[in-house]
Amino acid sequence: MAGIPLFQHRLFSSGIDTKRNTSFSTLNSDDILYFKDILDHKNVVQDEDRLVAANVDWMRKYKGSSQLLLLPKNSEDVAKILKYCNSRCLAVVPQGGNTGLVGGSVPVYDEVIINLSAMDKIVSLDKVNGILICEAGCILENLNSYVENEGFVMPLDLGAKGSCQIGGNVATNAGGLHFIRYGSLHANILGLEVILADGTTLDMLTTLRKDNTGYDLKHLFIGSEGTLGIITKVALLTPCKPSSRSIAFLACNDYICCQKLLAEAKQSLGEAISAFEFMDYHSVEMVLAYTEGVRNPLPASPYNFYVLIETTTSDELYDRTKLEAFLLHAMEMGLVSDGVIAQDLNQASSFWRIREGIPEGLLKAGAVYKYDLSLPIQVLYAIVEEMRARLGNTAKVVGYGHLGDGNLHLNISTTHYDDKILSEIEPFVYEWTAKVRGSISAEHGLGLMKADKIHYSKSAETVQVMTSIKKLFDPKGIMNPYKLLPHRLFQD
Ligand SMILES: Cc1cc2nc3c(=O)[nH]c(=O)nc-3n(C[C@H](O)[C@H](O)[C@H](O)COP(=O)(O)OP(=O)(O)OC[C@H]3O[C@@H](n4cnc5c(N)ncnc54)[C@H](O)[C@@H]3O)c2cc1C
Repeated sequence: MAGIPLFQHRLFSSGIDTKRNTSFSTLNSDDILYFKDILDHKNVVQDEDRLVAANVDWMRKYKGSSQLLLLPKNSEDVAKILKYCNSRCLAVVPQGGNTGLVGGSVPVYDEVIINLSAMDKIVSLDKVNGILICEAGCILENLNSYVENEGFVMPLDLGAKGSCQIGGNVATNAGGLHFIRYGSLHANILGLEVILADGTTLDMLTTLRKDNTGYDLKHLFIGSEGTLGIITKVALLTPCKPSSRSIAFLACNDYICCQKLLAEAKQSLGEAISAFEFMDYHSVEMVLAYTEGVRNPLPASPYNFYVLIETTTSDELYDRTKLEAFLLHAMEMGLVSDGVIAQDLNQASSFWRIREGIPEGLLKAGAVYKYDLSLPIQVLYAIVEEMRARLGNTAKVVGYGHLGDGNLHLNISTTHYDDKILSEIEPFVYEWTAKVRGSISAEHGLGLMKADKIHYSKSAETVQVMTSIKKLFDPKGIMNPYKLLPHRLFQD
C-alpha cells in the first residue's frame, strides 16, 4: 500500500486550512496483514464502494481518503487495533453511525476508520433500577425498542435515531428532542468502558448513582468526539416509559409569543413537558417542499412560527386535560394563533415528522451551512433575522430548534457552496454568538468544522488545559486528529 497518492477530496473547505501531520505514518501491506491476523478478514475492509461511503459525512460536505475501514467485534479487538496504530503512529478516526454534522466522523486525510457497528450487543438491563449496559455500536432506535418492551425509554431521542449509535451519541454528548425532560448525557451516563490510544482499557463501567472516589473521568469522554479514546461500552439510566403521550402543534405570530408560550408552558405543564420545539415558517416550508407525504396540520394560513409541545405522564386523562387547558389559556392570552392536538398515534408521528424532517429537507434543497448555537432565549431569533438581512436574496435563512433548551439551529440554504457566501456568514455568526455569551456548539460538537473556532466559546486558559489533557491521553495525537482543538496547538 506504500505510495498511495494522498490528496484531499474536500467538497467544501469551510475555511479550514489544515495540512496533514507529517509525523503520521502511511498504511503499508504489513499493516493490512496485521489487521487480518487479529480480525476476521471480512472486517478488514478495502472495498472501494464501502470506503467511499465511510469517507463521506451525512451532509456529503466533508470527504477523506482513507484506504482502510476496520470493524472490530469486541473491546479486545479495539484495544489491539489502537495499540498497534499507536506503535506505528497511524492516525485513526472512530466512527459510529456517521450522522454527525460537523465533519468529525470522517477522515480528513488517510486516517484508518474504526467503525463500531459490529459491536452492537446488549449486555444487561437492570429492571429494578432501569440501568442499561450495552456495547457502543448499538443503534439508538434499536436500544429504544428493546427497553420500551421492558417498560423503559432511552433518555435521548433525535432525528438520526435509526442510524446513530449510542457510542457516537456519548462521544458527541448529543442533546436531542427530550433534553428538556431528561437532561444531558452527563446526567444519564453512569459508566463507560473506554480504550485509550495506546490500547489501555479504562474500565469505568460502574452502575452506581453515587460515587465520589476522586475525579470522575468518564465525563471527559462524554463530548470528546473520539479525540481521547474509543468508547466501547456504555451504562446508562433509562427512565420508566410514560404511559401517556400528548402532542400539540401550534402556530405563533411572532417570536415574542414563542418565548411567552415557553414560559407559560413551564408554569402550567411543568414536569409533564417532554419536548418544546420551534420552527420558523421557512423551515416548515422546506419540509413541505422536499418530504413526500408531509402536510401542514394548520393549513388555514401560513404563520411565522410553529411550536411542537409534547407532554408525557403516567395518566392519560390528566395529560390530555392539562394540555387542552393550557392550549385554551394560551389562545385566550393571544400567544397562540391556531393549534391542534394529535388525536391518535398516526397524527402524533405526522407532527413529529415535520420537525424531524427539517435537516433532510435542507439537505435535499442543495448546499447548507449549519450552525448549532446555544443562545439566551431573549435574543435567540435575532441572529436569524440579522443573517437574513445580511445575505439578502443570495440564500434562504431558516431557524428552528430546541427552544426549551435555548438551542437554535441556524441553517443557510443555497444552491451550491460558495466561499463568498461563507465569508458573509463567518466569522460574523461566531462573533455575534460570543458577544451574547452563547456557545458556538450547543449539541453537535466542534468536529473539523469548528476546531479552529473553539476560542469563541472557551477562554485561552481553558483551551490550554484541554490541550494538555489531549496530550496526556494521546501523546502521539493519533486519535481523530484535526478535530475539536485547533491543529496548530499540536504542531512543533
Ligand atoms: C437528521 C439528523 C438529526 C439530528 N438531530 C440531532 C439532535 O437533535 N441532537 C443532536 O445532538 N445531534 C443531532 N444530530 C447529529 C448526530 O446525529 C449526533 O451527533 C449523533 O450523536 C452522532 O452519532 P453517530 O453514531 O452517528 O456518530 P458519528 O457521526 O459516527 O461520530 C460523531 C463523532 O463521535 C465520534 N465517535 C463515534 N463513535 C465513537 C465511539 N464509539 N467512541 C469514540 N468516539 C466516537 C466520531 O469520531 C465523531 O467525532 C442529527 C443528525 C442528523 C443527520
